Amino acid sequence: MNADLHCHSNVSDGQLAPFEVARRAHAGGVSLWALTDHDEVAGQAQARSEAESLGMGYVTGVEISVTWASRTVHVVGLGIDTACPALVAGLLATRSGRTARAQAMADALAALGIEGAYEGALRYVSNPDLISRTHFARFLVEKGYAQSTPDVFERYLGEGKPGYVPHRWASLEEAVQWIGAAGGVAVIAHPGRYKYTPLEFDTLFGQFLELGGKAIEVVTGSHTPDQYREYADVARRFGFEASRGSDFHAPSEGRTELGKLPPLPSDLTPVWERWL
Ligand code: AMP
Ligand code: MN
Ligand code: MN
Ligand code: MN
Repeated sequence: MNADLHCHSNVSDGQLAPFEVARRAHAGGVSLWALTDHDEVAGQAQARSEAESLGMGYVTGVEISVTWASRTVHVVGLGIDTACPALVAGLLATRSGRTARAQAMADALAALGIEGAYEGALRYVSNPDLISRTHFARFLVEKGYAQSTPDVFERYLGEGKPGYVPHRWASLEEAVQWIGAAGGVAVIAHPGRYKYTPLEFDTLFGQFLELGGKAIEVVTGSHTPDQYREYADVARRFGFEASRGSDFHAPSEGRTELGKLPPLPSDLTPVWERWL
């Protein structure tokens, strides 16, 4: 089973349309696929219909932005009913702060002498509701302020960098509730990316379980091989199911390709057994 249950289209900060991501997943050998755009389900119908016409299994998905202990955590919801009113309202509320935040980011960049960042980032946006740091990163690379997207985050847009604007997203409880109301399964995305202390991590995982969270990503394009092992151990210790996903965003940004990651360690329970 080549499952890839985390990636993005131009409905959020990816570069390809949902149907193009579907074709790329299929070409990459994916047999069960989920499109998980940030805070938005507008690409789901197109993703599913293209997957079905290719004979590829499809699971609905979303990646919700959460603030926990003053930092951002991403919670993936899989197998959701995309019409669920609680989920739809929650995602709308989560998206609503993005435009003002983007203007504040542009102001912070202007203070560094980088003019026109808001309009520049907007040129990379397909869904006007969903402007993200990735769109600013594409503008900054275009203008030569950085070499690559990771370089932009290192120099300007990562937490604590001069163009970073703190933002309050959904709470962990809200995100898990919306996913649960929609009949889906909540998964902590790429835990290796968060800068928590060991105690904070244990608290996060414990709270997530208590709230009804079921799984964590173990094999993801955001983890190193050492982190596959580290989070496999976390899954064993907390009794989480495990997920696998490339977090693919674009063909040319050095991100992981769809369907090409190693398999999960064989003793873990794959979250996708639910949909087989
Ligand atoms: P936002 O939701 O606007 O805060 O943007 C977050 C997005 O920025 C993530 O989903 C990634 O696509 C991207 N991102 C965050 N950190 C990095 C990084 N270090 N390198 C490349 N992309 C990143
Ligand atoms: Mn992204
Ligand atoms: Mn993420
Ligand atoms: Mn993602």
